[in-house]
Amino acid sequence: MQHLIEALFRDDSLLTRCLSPLAAVVVALVSEDGQLLQANLGFRRILDMTDDTLTPSQDVRSFFVQPSFAQLLAIHPEAGRPIYQGIVNIGDINSQCRSLVGAVYRKGGKLLIIGEYDVSEMERLNAQVIELNEQLSITQRDLSRSNRTLHESEVRLMAMSLTDPLTGLANRRRLMEFLQSEIDRSQRYQIPFSIIMADIDFFKKVNDEFGHEVGDEALLGFSNLMKNNMRSVDLVARLGGEEFIIVMPNTSLEGAMVEAERLRVKTERLYFDSMQRGITASFGVAEFQGTGDANSLFKHVDEAMYASKQEGRNCVTAYTVMMGETNK
Ligand code: GH3
Ligand code: MG
Ligand code: MG
Repeated sequence: MQHLIEALFRDDSLLTRCLSPLAAVVVALVSEDGQLLQANLGFRRILDMTDDTLTPSQDVRSFFVQPSFAQLLAIHPEAGRPIYQGIVNIGDINSQCRSLVGAVYRKGGKLLIIGEYDVSEMERLNAQVIELNEQLSITQRDLSRSNRTLHESEVRLMAMSLTDPLTGLANRRRLMEFLQSEIDRSQRYQIPFSIIMADIDFFKKVNDEFGHEVGDEALLGFSNLMKNNMRSVDLVARLGGEEFIIVMPNTSLEGAMVEAERLRVKTERLYFDSMQRGITASFGVAEFQGTGDANSLFKHVDEAMYASKQEGRNCVTAYTVMMGETNK
């Protein structure tokens, strides 16, 4: 080592010739007035000198952070011994400063700085980076799990807000949304659509005779029957109590009448063990007339259903304009 130091003081070009490409070792020769005479890649990197050539007469005094250049100059040199040994902090104090382990020699009006990166410090930092990365990936995993849960809850909440809790059918809110979009579609493209209203006959009696729970069971049986027998494009909704609406897109009054009659017959065939009997329901059918709104359509289908009740129940009635006239 001593020979190397001597040789470097004797011939500066040795530094550029032999040590120039080394990046992990920092070697620089600086004149006492702070001018950089020679420096290898390691030193140039710290000073952000990307260029291979040295800027002549560059003053590098300010880059000696700890010990400072002035502190180094104040130390009296002893032949063959470094003027300083230990941690050398070099760099731009305002941006980035490197901590090196090394020594500073002084001879013939020049200072020779030889240092290397503090390997144990770098290992410690590396370990910290690895740990932080692991924490980051755990946090990211937790975050994406929370996001998924949140999204699922939102979807569930949304579904809940549009679903009747007892029957799982669409509720009135969903029905109104669906109906409005069907009205819009029908008016824009001149496509017919119809709705069916179904109301269980003498349902109050079921409750009175067998209790509310058995009543619920009958409601559920009737709901499932409708759900399982309609097309996927149809919307089966519970309007409230034991009244239901089925919206049938792209369907004429005649088509909806056929479906309502099919449902009526199937309802008649339902059998409940708890009551040892079945139920019947009355149906009304109405086609959207191209004008009016959801409420006027409800009014029509309600009139048709009411006519079925009047007829003695367990039957299907279509709304006719005449009905509307009679009831005015
Ligand atoms: P109609 O043939 O004229 O339709 O006679 P109805 O007895 O079915 O008619 P009404 O509207 O008088 O009775 C409906 C009954 O439905 C009254 C109410 O107690 C019952 N009901 C409403 N909602 C529920 C429910 O969620 N569960 C049960 N079990 N009963 C309900
Ligand atoms: Mg009823
Ligand atoms: Mg009713």
